[in-house]
Amino acid sequence: MEIIQQDIPHIQNSLLGWYNANKRDLPWRRHSNAYYTLVSEIMLQQTKVATVIPYFERFISRFPTVYDLAAANDDEVVKLWEGLGYYSRARNLHAAVKEVVAIYGGQIPNRKTEISKLKGIGPYTTGAVLSIAYNQKVPAVDGNVMRVFSRIFALEDDIAKPATRKKMEEVAELLIPDHSPGDFNQALMELGATVCTPKSPQCLFCPVNDSCLAYEKGLEKVLPIKKKARAPEKISIMMYAVTFNRKLLVVKRPASGLLANMWSLPTEDRMEEMPHLQQVEEYCEINGYSAKISKDIYYFDHIFSHRHWKIVLIPIELDQPPEFLPKRSIWVEQHAISDFAFPKVYLKALEQLGYRN
Ligand code: SF4
Repeated sequence: MEIIQQDIPHIQNSLLGWYNANKRDLPWRRHSNAYYTLVSEIMLQQTKVATVIPYFERFISRFPTVYDLAAANDDEVVKLWEGLGYYSRARNLHAAVKEVVAIYGGQIPNRKTEISKLKGIGPYTTGAVLSIAYNQKVPAVDGNVMRVFSRIFALEDDIAKPATRKKMEEVAELLIPDHSPGDFNQALMELGATVCTPKSPQCLFCPVNDSCLAYEKGLEKVLPIKKKARAPEKISIMMYAVTFNRKLLVVKRPASGLLANMWSLPTEDRMEEMPHLQQVEEYCEINGYSAKISKDIYYFDHIFSHRHWKIVLIPIELDQPPEFLPKRSIWVEQHAISDFAFPKVYLKALEQLGYRN
């Protein structure tokens, strides 16, 4: 492997020296606490540090220990995650911490074989917790680290392929020093987040520019190679804001699939292309609604990682109470809407309807 040809101790020292002088003061770095590391690493997946900080602080102030989180109600955990997206992370974290309390006496396990079996804990989080909280020499390879390795070692492997992650973990194993594995992994992540950024790497200010093959060859904006994922599938969605007596009908989504168990508005997807009014009339007929259909129809888009919802949001004001309600639905007074955890797409809808500022 080409890495062998580079001066590993020099890269280690340059990166650690830079990290110690420049690391950001982040709330989860102020104490050595495996629980804080676990929560922060799960929140940071697919999410920027600046977004995570207030969520982390609120979460830890409400659930300061694994015991507090394990004893919490699922809805409250998800409510504190509201707006952070990828809600299965919150549910998996909750389940993992319950296992920590039930099986490991409240201690986040410090063995790879144990921690990696906890719900939702993949190789990256395993490596991050073991190296940062327990100072073990275990790789923690995320997108930032793959980008940095691709550039320093001029690796042309497609980082979108799962096999490339394995190769990057082998690179990390060669590179992580015995004496500071946690700091070294964090230094790599920090370099990727602040200096070796995706579009504008700051090579002139980079602590490892004298060892970087991409910089030497002028490839820093060419690497890493990442073949484009397919564009998210476009799906037509009808959302209904059904009100009666100034109460809004909210529905808990199914227990599995997209946005599982989150609160929502009644939603129909994969709609045929037909006039909206006709669809709404059919919807009212099926649900036994006698209603006024508002002329204020809202159109907006929301893009998930694999789906692109093209949404038509229609207010329906009922003249009389319906004979039956959809499964898992309840009426909510306007002032109580904020007590429920809605994913971002429904928060957007509630904003358009004037239920949130
Ligand atoms: S020199 Fe440039 S491309 Fe190389 S690691 Fe540093 S910032 Fe990234």
